[in-house]
Amino acid sequence: MAEGKTDDPGGGSAVRDQLMEQLNRQRTAFRESRSGTDYAERMVALKAMQEALYKYRHEYVEAVSADFGGRAPEETLLLEIFVLIDEIRHTRRHLKKWMKIKWVMPNWQFLPSRTKIIHQPLGVVGVMGAWNYQLLLTFGPMIGALSAGNHVMMKPSELAPRTAELMQKMISETFPPEYVTVITGDVDVASAFSTLPFDHLIFTGSTRVGKIIMRNASEHLTPVTLELGGKSPALVAREFPIGSGARRIVHGKFSNSGQTCVAPDYAMVHVDQLDTFVAEARKVIEEFYPQLVGSDDYTRIATKRHYDRLVSLVNEAREKGAEVLAVNPAGEDCNAENRVFPPTLVWNCPEDCTLMQEELFGPILPIVTYETTEGAIDYINDRPRPLALYYFDRDHERTWQVLTETISGGVTVNGCIYHLPQNNLPFGGVGDSGMGAYHGFDGFNTFSKKKAIFHQSRFASTTLLRPPYGFLARFIIGTLIRNWPTLDLVRRYRKGK
Ligand code: NAD
Repeated sequence: MAEGKTDDPGGGSAVRDQLMEQLNRQRTAFRESRSGTDYAERMVALKAMQEALYKYRHEYVEAVSADFGGRAPEETLLLEIFVLIDEIRHTRRHLKKWMKIKWVMPNWQFLPSRTKIIHQPLGVVGVMGAWNYQLLLTFGPMIGALSAGNHVMMKPSELAPRTAELMQKMISETFPPEYVTVITGDVDVASAFSTLPFDHLIFTGSTRVGKIIMRNASEHLTPVTLELGGKSPALVAREFPIGSGARRIVHGKFSNSGQTCVAPDYAMVHVDQLDTFVAEARKVIEEFYPQLVGSDDYTRIATKRHYDRLVSLVNEAREKGAEVLAVNPAGEDCNAENRVFPPTLVWNCPEDCTLMQEELFGPILPIVTYETTEGAIDYINDRPRPLALYYFDRDHERTWQVLTETISGGVTVNGCIYHLPQNNLPFGGVGDSGMGAYHGFDGFNTFSKKKAIFHQSRFASTTLLRPPYGFLARFIIGTLIRNWPTLDLVRRYRKGK
């Protein structure tokens, strides 16, 4: 891989040169450690990270809330701090097993030779996070990278600056900079970061920026994991209790005000149940959020720009004839200044509305109707592959049909979002929603080189297959491919020459 600026196509800017220096320091430290960190060192690092997260939990709650202009402390503690600590605990419990040499059977023809796989650290891993769950999406990949023995450079999003600064402070107190470091800065820094010749780069963000990242990384053939977004459907079978479906979808959608990559983007309900679903969803929203502006439980929209985008999406849908219901139980003043966007249900929305095309990433729930399960499956398959799919049904056969006839990053059946924090499930998208996966063993695996090793035996039959080829070699080849006439062909070919 390129070392220094001479064969470094992305080189040039002052910001990038500084980042490159930091990367070179990490690479040197990695190389000096000979084989990456060993088991004991990785365990120490993971424990230190766990303790630091615990120590800083209250400060994170405050920083995240300040960045959003208001977010429920419970959501930061549950959906970020807890999930991270739980993944560290899981990793510490299983790391020894994951790091074990894996002996596998060689092809019988090569017996008694032996074959094995070792997981080797890649070197320095770059992590680029997104603002919506800044801690989870930056530290989550880092846990995988550290467990695999790598050094790590992280670039959190500039849209959550207080959280990013606190992350930098915590990491610099916990780890030496040649081992783990946090880089803060604006989009130019992010852009320069993505051109560095990392040994692996993991990016979480939009599909649009994901394409830029992949292009930048391709200069150095840096392998990438892209954790992107998309329109994740929540499909409710006609037979499923509609009230229960509405409750679970509303919870998944409006937590963090829809600013969740795996939030259900739109609901699909049977055409006969549209009115009931709208009524039930409205009831649940009113129950969850009796107040919006006056509530600590209802998250603000991250920036005014994001807020204005949501307003224009709803306005366009309304102008094109969609039914729109903004649920604002206490009749409060929700505006771009306080960035409180009311939970909004939209139905009968024409397909050419931006709302039906782009990932919403906000508290707007379009409701689409279907007539048959096959029709619903076709609707989903006609669109880019989603990050998540939610299916609500108690019929096993139909559930299996939906699971096998649609393609998505992951699925929760009869619920929303819960496949994400599972330590034993790979998390990642497919097609437009991303590539690669992490979490638990899959993180360890993604940030390791699975090295294939073959130990040649002194007595292997392969020694009989060396030139000059005689009767014995031809006899063995004929036996291997189980085709005796081949032998004659070879003989005739040789004679003809
Ligand atoms: P974004 O793509 O705008 O930004 C993500 C990161 O990219 C930020 O850190 C930013 O600094 C960086 N960036 C922005 N422009 C760049 C450029 N030109 N060159 C290099 N880097 C650049 O996404 P966002 O607004 O932060 O997050 C929302 C999106 O992320 C949604 O699409 C959501 O679905 C997706 N997301 C996915 C996951 C997942 O795990 N799959 C999780 C959270 C969010």
